[in-house]
Amino acid sequence: MEGVMNGLEGELEELRETFRTGKTKEASWRRSQLKALLSLLKEREGEILEALKQDIGKHPVESYRDEVGTVMKSVNYALACLKQWMSSKKVKLPIIAFPSTAELVPEPLGLVLIISSWNFPFGLSLEPLIGAIAAGNAVVIKPSELAPASASVLASALHSYLDNKAVKVIQGGPSVCGQLLQQKWDKIFFTGSARVGKIVMAAAAEHLTPVTMELGGKCPAVVDELSSSWDITMTIRRILAGKFGTCAGQACIGIDYILVEEKFLSTLVQQMKVFIKKVFGENPKETNSIARIINKNHLIRLKNLLDDPMVNASIVYGGSIDEDRLFIEPTILVNPPLKAAIMNEEIFGPLLPIITLEKIEDSIEFIKSRPRPLTIYAFTKNEKFKRRLISETSSGSLTFNDTIVQYAADTLPFGGSG
Ligand code: NAD
Repeated sequence: MEGVMNGLEGELEELRETFRTGKTKEASWRRSQLKALLSLLKEREGEILEALKQDIGKHPVESYRDEVGTVMKSVNYALACLKQWMSSKKVKLPIIAFPSTAELVPEPLGLVLIISSWNFPFGLSLEPLIGAIAAGNAVVIKPSELAPASASVLASALHSYLDNKAVKVIQGGPSVCGQLLQQKWDKIFFTGSARVGKIVMAAAAEHLTPVTMELGGKCPAVVDELSSSWDITMTIRRILAGKFGTCAGQACIGIDYILVEEKFLSTLVQQMKVFIKKVFGENPKETNSIARIINKNHLIRLKNLLDDPMVNASIVYGGSIDEDRLFIEPTILVNPPLKAAIMNEEIFGPLLPIITLEKIEDSIEFIKSRPRPLTIYAFTKNEKFKRRLISETSSGSLTFNDTIVQYAADTLPFGGSG
């Protein structure tokens, strides 16, 4: 253990020393690292897609969309904005300060720790890395041990392409992460569960280190109307993409449950069945279009959510589980008890409860009476209802008539509220 710690402290000292030289502050260094990241993504694309398939059974198109294409877009955005982000801005002063002048000068923080989760092992490590490099910091990435092939590709590729005196990947699980957290950092960026988030925040408090926490939650999708066939096709396709087609529902901004007016329930369920078969085939177990559950523990956790007899009785489609292949069929439930675990814990898997309401406006109270979601999705053309959702609910983002796309918008902030 002592050897590991000495090795770790040596590595961190090397990073701090690089930062102290001022090298990472140079615009040329930031630009070169971002460009190197672009080359990595282009040249190692095959390895990245293969690792994601191995770790979590993601289809290459899904992997490209979420973990290569999106990240390339973000690198290009950072390259385009770098000059502006780095420039100082003159600001006005009150008359009492006359004749002084003032300007805001952006500066890097120092050594940044990025701790990421397994569901988007490249995206959730590289997106914060782009920000950290663009801001001129030295960085350590601690990827999740639950996606080991991805962690290993990330480590070897970043080592080959980026300045490894300024950017390092340190692999390991909770114990390694615990050792990292004992060190003094200038910023910690954590993506993961609220449980571990508390551990990270407590460790950061020891050194008064600022933290960014990307945690989870339950994201509702409000379905207002299903009258025309266009409404139905667009809504159902986007719901399927935002649930089963995004890491099999193992996504922080994936749809957790649906709220719909009673009168549209039968259309919604019937059409979802049709589209699930259309998109994933008659026997979804054989499809390679749905990711697998990350491991046995998570599969058992999801199975336990369904094992509650009242919840089980609410299944109207799917429900089959293949433990050996870490597969859970896309599963639809109608009105499981609101006090059941499935309606209180983050589901993080391909189980989709639908809750019916008398009037769709009741969805506002339903959402407000629960913890703030990371995202709310609403399928509606009713402008008045849209305005009410914007002004009366609170969430990290609110997306109308689509799912997941807000993740790709560089011009919008991403994360939960607060
Ligand atoms: P997790 O909290 O179990 O693990 C996250 C990281 O913490 C991993 O790198 C892990 O090695 C480390 N870790 C685990 N236990 C630890 C401990 N005891 N001490 C120190 N470090 C420890 O989360 P997960 O299972 O990897 O990810 C799933 C969660 O992440 C879900 O809640 C999901 O909603 C959330 N998430 C959020 C976002 C977002 O952007 N907001 C994105 C993806 C996932």
